[in-house]
Amino acid sequence: MNKFLRIFALLSMVGFSSLTIYGNETDNDTDSDKIKNVILIIGDGMGPAQVGLLEAYARQSKTPVLKTRTTAFKRMMNEGGVLGVSMTYAANVLVTDSAASATQLAIGKPAKPETIGVDSQGYPRESVLVIAKKMGKATGLVSDVRITHSTPAAFAAHQPHRSLENEIALDMLATGPDVMLSGGLRHWIPEQANDHSSAIYKQLSQMTDGAINFNSKRSDERNLLSEAQQQGYQLAFTNKQMQKANAKETEKLLGLFTNSAFPDAIITDRDRNNPERTIPTLKEMTSKAIGILDNNDQGFFLMIESGLIDWAAHYNDTGTMLHEMLKMNETLNYVLDWANGRDDTLIVVTADHETGGFGFSYSGADIPEPEDLPGSVFKNRSYTTNFNFGPTNVLDKIYQQKLSYTEIFSRKFDQLNAEQKTPAALMAIINQNTEFDITEQQAARILETEDNPYYVQGHKSLSARRVPRIDANDAFFVYHLDDNRQNLLAIEVATRQSVVWSNGTHTASPVLVFAKGNEQVTAPFVQFMGHPELGQKIIKIMTDQK
Ligand code: MG
Ligand code: ZN
Repeated sequence: MNKFLRIFALLSMVGFSSLTIYGNETDNDTDSDKIKNVILIIGDGMGPAQVGLLEAYARQSKTPVLKTRTTAFKRMMNEGGVLGVSMTYAANVLVTDSAASATQLAIGKPAKPETIGVDSQGYPRESVLVIAKKMGKATGLVSDVRITHSTPAAFAAHQPHRSLENEIALDMLATGPDVMLSGGLRHWIPEQANDHSSAIYKQLSQMTDGAINFNSKRSDERNLLSEAQQQGYQLAFTNKQMQKANAKETEKLLGLFTNSAFPDAIITDRDRNNPERTIPTLKEMTSKAIGILDNNDQGFFLMIESGLIDWAAHYNDTGTMLHEMLKMNETLNYVLDWANGRDDTLIVVTADHETGGFGFSYSGADIPEPEDLPGSVFKNRSYTTNFNFGPTNVLDKIYQQKLSYTEIFSRKFDQLNAEQKTPAALMAIINQNTEFDITEQQAARILETEDNPYYVQGHKSLSARRVPRIDANDAFFVYHLDDNRQNLLAIEVATRQSVVWSNGTHTASPVLVFAKGNEQVTAPFVQFMGHPELGQKIIKIMTDQK
């Protein structure tokens, strides 16, 4: 601190203490620490190494998409943000899932895995969103998964299990956040919508502009869309409809843009400038949500989830995960732009947990050639290493992936006839869509666990390794035991990506907590916390500041 600043700080301290002594004008002296708006951004599965992947790509790649090489995370710190760390484990266990983790953040209390909005004893608890609502604030939930999926659900529902998404939809409607923008239409429409000759099917096709291939998951005839309309919600099913929703005419907006989750970020990036695109980006939804919520004089609470980081990580799909992190980056940059220069807004960015045990790693494969260095120490020998520490062009190759692993299998390989599903065919698809070519032999290894005719017809010897690779003892390393082709592909390219994945589920790695607002309110986040405590801090700051 220079001399001038030190004197200034001293003067302001004197100023504040005299106000405290005289005990009046408290409104004036606390102006600077009044928090009106709280924006909580959750990167699902976004452990420190996932943030590190984005950071490495921004700083070290040859041709970064981020021209300034500055991520939104780095920018947040440059602009006065603070950093804390938090343990994510659920009540009485080592690891968490998204349901317990979001619940802990939402209610500020320990919660058990797979439960929604209830404490560890099973009692429903008020979430930060409900508390905000009671304070007269506007409230919103934005997610690129489904609005009834665990992360948003925990802020507006109370259910014994995360899978009860039909019930969660009812709870969310009863809670009534002013803005809900996400996917998951299937839980909001009556079962009869599945009958394509029904009136409701025709009506929904019209309402959705034919943009959504919907399919109800409800087992009743409740039409939650018309119930929402009766509660004053405007509805939107396409980006155009969302953009048209007039904030002056409505304070409430329900946007459901996909039947289930959103497409992955590689598809989003590819379709970004497609005029036919109907699904808004996470940033577009965030912008719309803030535009509406900001009309409330009392301020707002908004939770934004970048939920597909987790899905990419479950499948150990590094390229898709990088694109998901870039989506998070774009959204966070938007929020930072919006909040620029305001000290009435608290922004907290964290993860619910880490997924996949991801990291760059060094190996003994492809050790680089010796290199001449100009330094005097290397006058008589060249620079050599015993290991390959990972060439930085790996980052560009990871970014250049053209299809997610899920799409490689579901959209391409699975569309082939049974007799076409050969290792050579899989190799061709993978080599067309990724920068890490595999051999036919590697493709065969990936397909070993497949229940497909190619192997039944006399290539059974290749299945010899099937059992050890998907046995329940190995369950740590895959997500779905019956669908682990993506994970097996990841294993085949791992060395060349300089990447390791420890599993296909979640780890208990502590996660980062970025906070930005004003100094008084962000100081408590510079801590080694647990997620219930982190939730409490957010609630306390919001309720203290009314
Ligand atoms: Mg989630
Ligand atoms: Zn997960």
